[in-house]
Amino acid sequence: MPAKPDSSAWELIPERPSLGSVREASRSCRACALWEKGTQTVFGEGSARSEVMLVGEQPGDREDVEGHPFVGPAGKLLDTALDRAGIDRTKVYVTNVVKHFNWEPRGKRRIHKKPNAEHIRACRPWLETEIRLVKPKVLVCLGDTAAQALIGRDFRLTQHRGELVETELEPMVTATVHPSSILRAPDDRARQEAMDAFVADLAGVAALLRGGTARKAG
Ligand code: SF4
Repeated sequence: MPAKPDSSAWELIPERPSLGSVREASRSCRACALWEKGTQTVFGEGSARSEVMLVGEQPGDREDVEGHPFVGPAGKLLDTALDRAGIDRTKVYVTNVVKHFNWEPRGKRRIHKKPNAEHIRACRPWLETEIRLVKPKVLVCLGDTAAQALIGRDFRLTQHRGELVETELEPMVTATVHPSSILRAPDDRARQEAMDAFVADLAGVAALLRGGTARKAG
């Protein structure tokens, strides 16, 4: 595990944390400015014994309103991809690097805005605690923001997606695209190809769970 970065969120982590108590504690987090923009903290969800942890960037508009991660269109696509890859959804824990929705107004709509380095650093205690409590066999970063937060700022998905990456984290770590990028594909054919590639990456995770090997980065 990397050295603990400076964040006031550490002070909120219970002394003997459980997923339930940490989730509860995260509701009152004010460690960065995003608490004022989001409706609520959207903590990770899934069994404490999950074999796979999927880490995205931040909750989206729908997740912010409902208070649950991956319940919007990208979450539905993720469920389909997991099913196609043969990964039992009940053995997957889903969460985000940042637990509040960052957005900017465009007319009446709230448009996703990438979290900055300060937001990611401030929110790190929640994610590190989730990883420590769940102890997944495989940690999958979904998208550049998660990959660069957990693997390293120099990591490039375009070069190393689907590969097993060596990190200071305890579980095996790999990275693929965020499912929302598939929804943004320009046409049906591109969307289908992106979905097939995403399923192939998740099938690689399924193989790891069965004791197989994955391509190593480098
Ligand atoms: S984004 Fe994370 S660090 Fe910032 S207020 Fe929300 S829970 Fe706290």
